[in-house]
Amino acid sequence: METTTLKQNVEVSPLSEMLNHNGQYGDYGGSYVPPVLAKPLERLADTFNSLVQDSSFIKEYIYLLKQYVGRPSPLYYAKRLSEHIGSTIYLKREDLNHTGSHKINNTIGQILVAKRMGAKEIIAETGAGQHGVATATAAALMGIPCKIFMGAKDIKRQSLNVSRIKLLGAELIPTESGTATLKDAVDIALGYYIEHPDSFYLLGSQVGPHPYPKMVGYFQSVIGQEARQQILNAEGRLPQAIFACIGGGSNAIGLFSGFLNDKEVEIYGAEGGGEAHEGNTAATISFGKPAVFQGTYSYCLVDKDGNPVESHSIAAGLDYPGISPQHAYLNDTKRASYYPVTDEAAIVGFKLLSQLEGITPAIESSHAIALAAKILKNKEMLAIINLSGRGDKDVDRDLNE
Ligand SMILES: *Cc1c(COP(=O)(O)O)cnc(C)c1O
Repeated sequence: METTTLKQNVEVSPLSEMLNHNGQYGDYGGSYVPPVLAKPLERLADTFNSLVQDSSFIKEYIYLLKQYVGRPSPLYYAKRLSEHIGSTIYLKREDLNHTGSHKINNTIGQILVAKRMGAKEIIAETGAGQHGVATATAAALMGIPCKIFMGAKDIKRQSLNVSRIKLLGAELIPTESGTATLKDAVDIALGYYIEHPDSFYLLGSQVGPHPYPKMVGYFQSVIGQEARQQILNAEGRLPQAIFACIGGGSNAIGLFSGFLNDKEVEIYGAEGGGEAHEGNTAATISFGKPAVFQGTYSYCLVDKDGNPVESHSIAAGLDYPGISPQHAYLNDTKRASYYPVTDEAAIVGFKLLSQLEGITPAIESSHAIALAAKILKNKEMLAIINLSGRGDKDVDRDLNE
């Protein structure tokens, strides 16, 4: 514990222990891809493994996290929220990052990998548009052409981010198949990658085949590294509980990874519950089954024949039928607990934080607020909630649509 005890200056550093595995999380994870992608993914894994040992790479990454993204993000004591709920609650302010969410931690890391690999084109898919914005931003920063695949339904419900993506110079490619949300955009982006294996697929969450879950987990672990030091600085002790919302699981693993070895810290994931019943939910762990989906083996929402189905959540960023293999493992080993949070409860959380703290959270993050409000009610616990992003994109929406 010595290295992290009461440091005055919070260090911005990713978590090197996360690199000690080969993409397997118990039975979950691995790489299930067509043969044409096996080589490019192997090359990506090898490059990533050598770059994280390369001090010039780490130096450039940390420089950009500090001077471009604005890290470390604050750990803010939310006094009025704390009084309202009856616990001591801190918010990890990923909403204050450049571009407004945690996504930029990962896109900056991956764009540096792409640059070292000499990539001529960046491709990415996006749900809420936050990853599209963060990827278009990173591509502009490095001067690499960029294509963003986005479901037509998401384009409609996240119009602010759509305008930002275009302004940043990326090419926006609407996808119409299926329900025109994230799952379909990923299928089409994967299809494009199969045809253009020399492009760099910049994946936005802790999903997909090896090495993506490991790489995304590594680049997001800066959240938990900072939060652990910050809470020790502020309170002189570890939190009793930590909370994050779960789409694919990247902001959550970012926070959780800082506390996985602290057995006394309870870990909670808030899934996009939709209406919290089969057929209308995005709560993959709560309602899904283990299956191979989009390159990895993890929980997935499936029909009675075991085929992946569309998910439903008010939050575009949580509207995905798959989930990170590491969260599947943390669930099965009972290190973390996952609960569905309904659309309705998330809207209450969205308004609650806006009115009690003057902070409008992303509708995704509002799921974590709602779960924390329920679990921490009058418990007098010390807790951290990861505020994965800001809510500007959700303000103009009719959230009761
Ligand atoms: C994308 C997004 C999420 C969900 O993605 P994870 O990979 O689960 O973190 C949550 N919050 C915001 C603000 C997002 O943009």
